Amino acid sequence: MIRATKIVATIGPASSPPAVLLQMAQAGVDVFRLNFSHGSAADHIGVAETIRKIGREIGRELGIMADLQGPKIRIGNFAEGRIELKKGDRFVLDAQLETPGNVERVGLDYKELPSDVHAGDVLLLNDGLIVLVVDEVRGHEIHTTVRFGGALSNHKGINRQGGGLTAPALTAKDMEDIRTAMQLEADYIAVSFPKNATDMTMARQLATLAAGSGRNRPMMIAKIERAEAIPELAAILEASDGIMVARGDLAVEVGNAAVPALQKRMIKMAREANKLTITATQMMESMIVNAMPTRAEVSDVANAVLDGTDAVMLSAESAVGSYPVEVVEAVASICLEAEKSYEVELDKDFLNRTFTRVDQSVANGALFTAWHLRAKAIAALTDSGATALWMSRHNIDLPILALTPNLATQRKLSLFRNVQPFKMDQASDRDLVLRAAEELLLGKGVVHKGDLIVLTIGEPMGQPGGTNTMKIVRVGQH
Ligand code: PEP
Repeated sequence: MIRATKIVATIGPASSPPAVLLQMAQAGVDVFRLNFSHGSAADHIGVAETIRKIGREIGRELGIMADLQGPKIRIGNFAEGRIELKKGDRFVLDAQLETPGNVERVGLDYKELPSDVHAGDVLLLNDGLIVLVVDEVRGHEIHTTVRFGGALSNHKGINRQGGGLTAPALTAKDMEDIRTAMQLEADYIAVSFPKNATDMTMARQLATLAAGSGRNRPMMIAKIERAEAIPELAAILEASDGIMVARGDLAVEVGNAAVPALQKRMIKMAREANKLTITATQMMESMIVNAMPTRAEVSDVANAVLDGTDAVMLSAESAVGSYPVEVVEAVASICLEAEKSYEVELDKDFLNRTFTRVDQSVANGALFTAWHLRAKAIAALTDSGATALWMSRHNIDLPILALTPNLATQRKLSLFRNVQPFKMDQASDRDLVLRAAEELLLGKGVVHKGDLIVLTIGEPMGQPGGTNTMKIVRVGQH
């Protein structure tokens, strides 16, 4: 069975040995995520080379996502490494403290915090597990009272409930990391904490600048994890190729309870805008230590599939967990099962929709035709991947086979829901191309003699862009 939902897995100490990466790829990872919050440029370049090698070995190109660290809105360190805060304790966050902290005060990596907060603000530390209420800001000191205490260790993250911290999305380190991402030919760059479309436009410009005369243009993914990004979503989508529902930081800023509905809304909006979505964070959290997921985690992954996400993402589960291969197998089987209950509502999807572009009209027309004729598959011959993207924005229970002469496109397509990418050389003769497409799909075992398939192509052949033709063929019958 072909799985439509894609799997993104974060690489970390548990998964960086090449043998583990290979097993994870064989278990179903489509895209590997390099977390630029950890490791050196040389580390990431080395892992990327291994991923490319594994892709060649297994005969399936894997996507690489470079995930930028973003601003470090964090406390400093403690003399003892950690402290214990209790409800009602007074605690000071001091931007000018140069010495290690204690139970009364701690320094700040994010020095601007005192100018960002006011009395009454609620600060959430360590993913929201510790809650401090601001009593007063005195110059560089933020005086707080502990509402919910617990253990607090070095360099834990800080969020303000409701968002609104001014830290810029792109730091000097991110700018350097964009250059590394371009050097290792990342297929996607994920931008952490963008507030608006401008942050995404700037990240894209930096990537274009770093590309120089190189042709690779990674897809830009906006991680939606700030409260203020929500009202900006339409503009952020417009400036990005996709979004990540980054539920960790987002939940801290907007409250846990708001996240499920936001996830559904974001995925819907992104699909309607022809953009990609990745649903992330704590999807299989218990599999960091257990060989089996909880029932709630199984439902969470299945619900993301039913929401229409392109991909589900593993973070700590694959980066530092004890079961990096098993967790991929588990996610893959949950996705496959959930996909059986997709609702295909293509007629309804197209109601009142108009398409003004020729290529988009052909793509959607082919989808509609393939669905109504109960074809076995739809095959898009594509250079940029745009036809496959348009087709993949609708739920349909037949695979979209994307045939491209462009290796970079093939890799990018690994994230698109329901799209199976294949590399196919270009030719200028239409009959030869169609024959080659059939042969390739037959050879891969994805279609069989006698199957009905719907193909889209652009004529004249051999020129990029311009899908303008749909052909319906029965495989092997000319
Ligand atoms: C998140 O906050 O949910 C997220 C995906 O971001 P990161 O893992 O980079 O903190």
